[in-house]
Amino acid sequence: MADIRVLPSRTAYSMPGELGARIVGGDGHYLLDSDGTRYLDASCGSGSLIFGHGDKEIIDALYAQSRKLTLFPSRHFSSEIVERYAGRLLDFGPPGMSRAITFSSGSDAVEASLKLAIQHHFAAERPQRRKILGRNASYHGNTIAGLSAGGFVARRKPYESVLAPCAKASHAHCVACEFGVQAETCGVQCAQSIEDAILEEGPENVAAVIVEPIVGAALSAGPPDPRYLPRISEICRQYDILLILDEVMTCFARTGTPFACMHWNVEPDIVVCGKAISAGYYPLSAILVNDRVVRGPLARDKYFQNGQTFACSPAGAAVGLAVLDRLADGSVAANVARMGELLRASLRKELPSVLVDRVRGMGLMVGFDIGNRFKSSRTPSSDGFGDRFQRAALKRGLVIYASSGGAERETGDHAMLLLPLTISEREVQEATACLVAAANDLLETESKARP
Ligand code: PMP
Repeated sequence: MADIRVLPSRTAYSMPGELGARIVGGDGHYLLDSDGTRYLDASCGSGSLIFGHGDKEIIDALYAQSRKLTLFPSRHFSSEIVERYAGRLLDFGPPGMSRAITFSSGSDAVEASLKLAIQHHFAAERPQRRKILGRNASYHGNTIAGLSAGGFVARRKPYESVLAPCAKASHAHCVACEFGVQAETCGVQCAQSIEDAILEEGPENVAAVIVEPIVGAALSAGPPDPRYLPRISEICRQYDILLILDEVMTCFARTGTPFACMHWNVEPDIVVCGKAISAGYYPLSAILVNDRVVRGPLARDKYFQNGQTFACSPAGAAVGLAVLDRLADGSVAANVARMGELLRASLRKELPSVLVDRVRGMGLMVGFDIGNRFKSSRTPSSDGFGDRFQRAALKRGLVIYASSGGAERETGDHAMLLLPLTISEREVQEATACLVAAANDLLETESKARP
């Protein structure tokens, strides 16, 4: 049999992991490996497993629906459960949304959102409006269109020659402000950079602006200035450009509100959801779309030209409904707000500041930078601390989402904790203790390596 371990992809299933062990099971908020080690899972299936492993209610919902109907020909029929789910998604989503369509991953939902924006203008007989505007250090999934719109250099690199040209504005990750301004002098230049890029491209050529409300994978959880999203929403309206919010990582209470844009009362034209939408139990994602996009010209086209086999899945809808039932009374979101505060406060207090700084985030999307003070200047370039810290944390029994910026190392060393949303105070303390132990281990190794 071919040895697929040689595949240079970190996601190849047979790649030996950091510790060489295999995961054999999940137990609540923990993972179990083949050596019998338990890990507290603060990567949470890349942010998906919001209720942890082995959730009986969700598994039962999936099983019951799978026995009845898993897929149907959506070009001929509708389905009661998919319609019910779409309605619930719209009630849960930001105000103003009037249609929901489900897909099977964050990447294909982002792709669908970009195509829908282009089809919207095409149907309005503005076919020249096809440019997508993205931002530096942003991640919008791994399709060619998502990578084109994104600004995560390392992930784009092998594909640069086939990526579509998409202009990039500044990100809005305040702790590494691209304009070098401090909070006191901030004039939200990052929002202005969106308008500048629109004017540079010609507003008549731009279909949509796509933004992560809080930068995730590329820079680890940096919330923007509170004026930022409202301002770019205004700019998009002014130039008749659609605002797409990629909430794949921030949706479904991760930041303490159903969607992150609700912190700033921003109503996007299209919002993209993934990850937590199914709590990790089904490959599910969705886009929610407002009237501005679906009524009028697009209604004449009748169809959104983007058929996919696993779109509109009844099994996915059953899982999605079970997740929404659990989030309905707001107690999970309240736990997120409380545990997020506690986690940030404990990390600021207990982690050695010589190694870890700029603890940040909203709700249970928490990030920090690693090793800045060991570097000759505070440029964002990496020294491999992110990767080494991740390994040290694993050895202490905690899975985190750290990065050294990939092969390009352009985004520096940072880590994100995406704990399950049902995490307890004791587990937050455990996560902090593991990180403190890992930080001390790393400092000890560093002091030996740098006499
Ligand atoms: N957009 C954002 C903001 C993401 O964080 C991710 C995944 N990290 C994606 C899109 C892609 O989602 P998926 O991995 O489910 O394709």
